[in-house]
Parts: sequence; structure tokens; C-alpha cells
Amino acid sequence: MWRVAAVRALRGGGAGGPRTASGAAAAQLRQRLESELEDIRGAGTWKTERVIASRQGPHLHLAGGGSGACGAGGGEEGSRPEVIRAGVETLEKFGAGLSSVRFICGTQSIHKDLEEKIARFHQREDAILYASCFDANAGIFEALLTPEDAVLSDELNHASIIDGIRLCKANKYRYKHMDMQDLEAKLQEAQKHRLRLVATDGAFSMDGDIAPLREICQLAQKYNALVFIDECHATGFLGPNGRGTDELLGVMDKVTIINSTLGKALGGAAGGYTTGPKPLIDLLRQRSRPYLFSNSLPPAVVGCAAKALDLLMESNAIAQSMAAKTQRFRSKMTAAGFTISGKDHPICPVMLGDARLASVMAEDMLNRGIYVIGFSYPVVPKGKARIRVQISAVHSDEDIDRCVEAFTEVGRKHRALP
Ligand code: PLP
Repeated sequence: MWRVAAVRALRGGGAGGPRTASGAAAAQLRQRLESELEDIRGAGTWKTERVIASRQGPHLHLAGGGSGACGAGGGEEGSRPEVIRAGVETLEKFGAGLSSVRFICGTQSIHKDLEEKIARFHQREDAILYASCFDANAGIFEALLTPEDAVLSDELNHASIIDGIRLCKANKYRYKHMDMQDLEAKLQEAQKHRLRLVATDGAFSMDGDIAPLREICQLAQKYNALVFIDECHATGFLGPNGRGTDELLGVMDKVTIINSTLGKALGGAAGGYTTGPKPLIDLLRQRSRPYLFSNSLPPAVVGCAAKALDLLMESNAIAQSMAAKTQRFRSKMTAAGFTISGKDHPICPVMLGDARLASVMAEDMLNRGIYVIGFSYPVVPKGKARIRVQISAVHSDEDIDRCVEAFTEVGRKHRALP
């Protein structure tokens, strides 16, 4: 108690609500922020968060009542009882956290075991854990590339890749989305540099499309470049054994570096990693700033991820069932008259075009107990509003059929369908 009282005394706060900072600079800041927030509201791009009052899973409850069938983009091993049990056991055995970064006193046997397991899963030499894949992407380019090198990045790569590239001093080339002619032109331009790294999302989450990795790897070979893929939307469910896009497209031996997340199909809690050649992983342990200067992953998270990987390596049933459910949803929705963007990916964007239509249809779907989210500008280009549906391995065929029926009803009501 005395510590709380002392901190309050230092901040000048008594018991009770928040205190308003005083002074002209604070007032000026408040005014500027309020005007910026008003601009966001005015532009119609304000994002609200629906509050979930239950576990994540195929069925969930929303705070304030209501329920929905939901998919959060992955195999959702996170809601499996074995995964939760493993997390609880690891929490009890290894504690809540290390209060430290890895190289001070933050490395436990479970961290080393998980890194070994990740490398084995992807059939790579080694792996390094991060607090998130955002961190893995923020850390890799700066550690690996110098002003003598070049990085070639798909224009629609994830924000964390864009930020990671911004932090590095290499020469930067942005090629048109999945455009191999443009990539080849940029590779030709980049021949003057010491090393070339092509960086792409394995699967792009906004459109549900999959990078043409075979063609990318062929070009990389022709122009002596390395290939980096971000597999957040692929690990655990794409490819015959859920290894990801490189397995799906038969180029596991051609992709040099993989970054991915533990926060989707591998436990669903948090965490990310890089896996690839051992000297690269060794270098990241020495140089990668988000690794060096941020706490190690909490044991419960490590326990969940390790169990999810065990399940994936024991059987390919999850990956196979994801593929079958994705196919069921995509074909039934197409037959009903909807346009689904992308191909073979469990992220199924139902293309509607109009932002208001996407928003009212998503609301109506929620009223029918289906949790889906409408996306419009600036998250996606103007005129390309959509409702993004994410199929999960734990959805039943009945869930999927119910979702298609609800879409059909709502689509007819709002004249998105004839
Ligand atoms: N990369 C991609 C392609 C993603 O979609 C995401 C998150 O959605 C990330 C990186 C960041 O992953 P994390 O949540 O582990 O930070």
C-alpha cells in the first residue's frame, strides 16, 4: 500500500480519477489531438473495437450481450484444450515471466526447445524468438543489410515489413504487387549492389492472395538474390502439412529466410520468430534490437506455442481440414453469386465495393450471430470495400453453411445479390 501512496504523492494524484496535466503545452497538445481525432471521424475511417467477453474460438460472446461464430485467421489451436493445458502447466513450472531480456537472465530451457522445434517444423537450421512478428520484421533488415545492399519489397507488404525496411540503410526498391515483370526490372537495376533481398508476404491478408513464390524464386536465382517471406498468414495451415506458402508451392529449399507469428495458428497468444541459416540467427542474437532490448517471451505463451507445433507435427489433419473448409466456403459463396477475392486461402474477402454496403451488411451479419468485419478505405483501396471472412479449422461444416446462408439473406436484403 505504501508504494501506491508514494507513487500517487509523486505524481501529485490523490485517490480517484485521472488528473489532467496543466500548462500551455499540454493544452496545445490536447487541442491538436482532439482536432486530429475529429478529422478521422469526419473521414469516416474511425475504427471501433467489438469487445469479446469469452475465449476466442469458433463461437464467442460479446460484451453487452450477443454472440457470434468467428474465425480469427488460422488453425485456432489456441482454443484447443491441450494447448491451454500446456500453457497453464508451463506457467506453473516456469513462472509468469523472466523480468529480463534473453541475454541477461531471460533464457529458459523452454525458449531453446521452442526455437529448435520451430526450425525443425520449417526444416531450417535455426530459429530465434521475438515478442511478436512485428518485432521480428522490425529487427531483421537493419541487422542484415547495409548501404552496400538492396532490398526489393512488394508494394502491399505488411506494415511491419515496411517499417523494418525503413529502419535499415540498404537501397530500397518497391515492386508492383505480385508483378514479376516489375520485380525483374528492379532486380536488374539492383545488380550494382552487393546483396539483393526480395521481401514478400507469403499470403496477403487483405486480398487473400498468395505470392507467386515459384516465379519469385526463379527470378531470385537468375539475379543472384535471396528470398525472405513473412508467413503470418500461412504458418500452420497452408501447404499439405501446414508448413506454409513455401511448402504449398514446392519451394522450401529456395526461400532463405522466414519470419512468422505465434499469434495466429501457433497457439494464438503472441510471439514471433525468424528461421533460416544458422549464421543469420547467430547474427540476429548479437545485433537485432527488438531481440536485444525487449523481454523474453512469457512461459505460458511458449508452452502454448510448443504444444500447437507438436499437434501440427503429429498430424496434418488441421492443415487438411482448413483446406477443405476453405474450399467449401469459397465454392458455396461463389455459387450464391458473391465474388471472393484471392485463391485457396482461408482469408476470404467478400468483395462488395461500396463502403456503406460493407458496413451495414457486416452489422446485419452480427445481428444474425456471425462475427465478420467490414473493411473500407483507407484499409483497402477506395471502391474495394469488403467483408473479410476468416475460416478456421475449428469451424464445423454446419458453421460454414450457416454463414453462407446468412450472407445470402443479408446480401439479398441489401441488394448485393439479385
Ligand atoms: N506480418 C503479417 C503479414 C501480419 O499479418 C501480422 C499481424 O497480423 C504481423 C506481421 C505481425 O504479427 P504479430 O501479431 O506477431 O506482431
